Amino acid sequence: MKRLFCRCGNQVFFDSQQCLHCGARLGFDSDQLIMRALTCGDGDSGRLGEHCETVDGEPFRHCGNRVDFDVCNWLVPQHSDQRLCFACQFNRTVPNQSLPGNQQRWRVLEEGKKRLFFTLMRLGLPLVSGWRDPGGLLLDFVEDGRSREEYAETFASTGYLGGVITINTLEADSVARAAAREQLNERYRTVLGHLRHESGHYYWAHLNPDAALRSEFTDLFGDEREDYASALSRHYAQGPPPNWRERYISAYASAHPSEDWAETWGHYLHIYDALETAAAHDVIPWGPDALDMDGRIAQWRELSLALNELNRSVGHGDAYPFVINSEVERKLAFADRVIARLQTPQ
Ligand SMILES: [Zn+2]
Ligand SMILES: [Zn+2]
Ligand SMILES: [Zn+2]
Repeated sequence: MKRLFCRCGNQVFFDSQQCLHCGARLGFDSDQLIMRALTCGDGDSGRLGEHCETVDGEPFRHCGNRVDFDVCNWLVPQHSDQRLCFACQFNRTVPNQSLPGNQQRWRVLEEGKKRLFFTLMRLGLPLVSGWRDPGGLLLDFVEDGRSREEYAETFASTGYLGGVITINTLEADSVARAAAREQLNERYRTVLGHLRHESGHYYWAHLNPDAALRSEFTDLFGDEREDYASALSRHYAQGPPPNWRERYISAYASAHPSEDWAETWGHYLHIYDALETAAAHDVIPWGPDALDMDGRIAQWRELSLALNELNRSVGHGDAYPFVINSEVERKLAFADRVIARLQTPQ
């Protein structure tokens, strides 16, 4: 993540809606990837849905999902015929806002989605919504019987199928997420982690890899045609193989070759974003674009160790509880080659 600033010079967060220093109303400009301070209507008290402009007179509107539900801080250019910002146009199902707790959950999901999108945009990956293009991406944020009596007979798992990333909104509930993490004996479980992982399934399908790339995939991850349902049942019944740490980034990656790929992709995005953030704050000299894959991994090993120590210093668990072994290094290098392919228009 880049550093983002208000017009007064104060550094603000990616999800900030207002500058805590000068009080300016803020919105994220997804074309320029910068934060904009805006005056709306007849002044800062103007209504959100009205015409807003920057100090230089550039006109914008706030996303409809900010105006109606206060869950988004992205902007829509005034000339756009869309009411929603770029990222909100990818939503297909959103949590029912008449039910208690769902506004907060949706906000958490949007924050994760936007951070994912930011990195995808920084990497120059194709990002088109399934509403515009049948090969595009859509997101479903759904509830099921585990979170609501109203949906007692339903079960929705987080996953990816045919261009649609589904996230169970319960993942946005910190108590439920911690319970799932304990139950599944995981050390790391976040909304952002889920979204990054699922985007890996999408991009692999989107790339439609040729035979050579597929065979490289099989050498590294295994045969992705292995029966998925039985592989997952086996994983949940028996757990990962005892030596999984020698070959995989996480226990879940050992469940099926496709999951290993998606876990690898998710970690690629983690590493890219974290290195970019660290470089933007002068914690490390070079950002990810100035480093090759070996350089990124070396830098990340050093940085993630420091990050874990810092976390422990303030009484938290490790921020990055993973070990990048040499097999995982090769898999990350493969993800880097896949990204290079995706960056080139087909
Ligand atoms: Zn300010
Ligand atoms: Zn939006
Ligand atoms: Zn998956």
